[in-house]
Amino acid sequence: MTHDNFELKDLFGPEEVVRPGKPLVIAIDGPSGSGKSSISREVAQRLKLAYLDTGAMYRALTWYCLDSGVDLQDSAAVELAAEQMPLDISTSAATEYVAVGGVDVTPDIREPRISSSVSAVATTLGARTELIRRQRRLIEQHNRRMVIEGRDITTVVAPQAEVRILLTASEEARLRRRGIQLGGSQNAEQLAVQVLERDAKDSTVVNFTKAADGVVTLDSSDLDFEQTVKAALNIVGRILYGG
Ligand code: C5P
Repeated sequence: MTHDNFELKDLFGPEEVVRPGKPLVIAIDGPSGSGKSSISREVAQRLKLAYLDTGAMYRALTWYCLDSGVDLQDSAAVELAAEQMPLDISTSAATEYVAVGGVDVTPDIREPRISSSVSAVATTLGARTELIRRQRRLIEQHNRRMVIEGRDITTVVAPQAEVRILLTASEEARLRRRGIQLGGSQNAEQLAVQVLERDAKDSTVVNFTKAADGVVTLDSSDLDFEQTVKAALNIVGRILYGG
């Protein structure tokens, strides 16, 4: 499938609500540095849908475990923490906000100490079950009109989503983007460890490198931000309206 030559302006005008009153779940998976969060957020904004960053939930749980002294190797304790975590996460594409027990942790969950521990939490199956339950509840609370992104959304959390996309990018492009995102504060080795080791650990519990049946792959390696957003909207348009 190519993503060119599709007249978006006819599909998604600025005032238009796409499929009003009907479900429109757009599930987007991909590895770290694929541009998933920024692309998903922008797609949600343009289509006036709710937005959920599920990676932020795993990061918040990691922060909560570290803050309350939970041993990340103790899976029963991590699972219990997942069940007890008083999480407040923004579902608006316009606002990035994550709080745990009333404490704003929005910037804290992006710190390297969280990035390097989050896989330990994310590979605890009981904790995943609880976060998946919360994610599904949030989808329902938004009348199934949401862009939701992560690693297992197209396959596990919302396999019935109207649109399912796997956003990929070459290793080189992913490292470059993560480097820019962190403001150049990390050296190349730290970056490679963060991005590649984390993906390797994560992929022991979820497969986000190959598209499952019915999932459209979008390779953003050679696309800039706007081109990637357009390509994603094209996929949405094609699936909803044909073409
Ligand atoms: O997307 P982000 O890099 O912020 O995700 C942080 C971590 O959360 C991932 O490395 C992975 O361990 C975990 N995660 C997951 N399943 C998801 C989303 C994120 O296991 N759906």
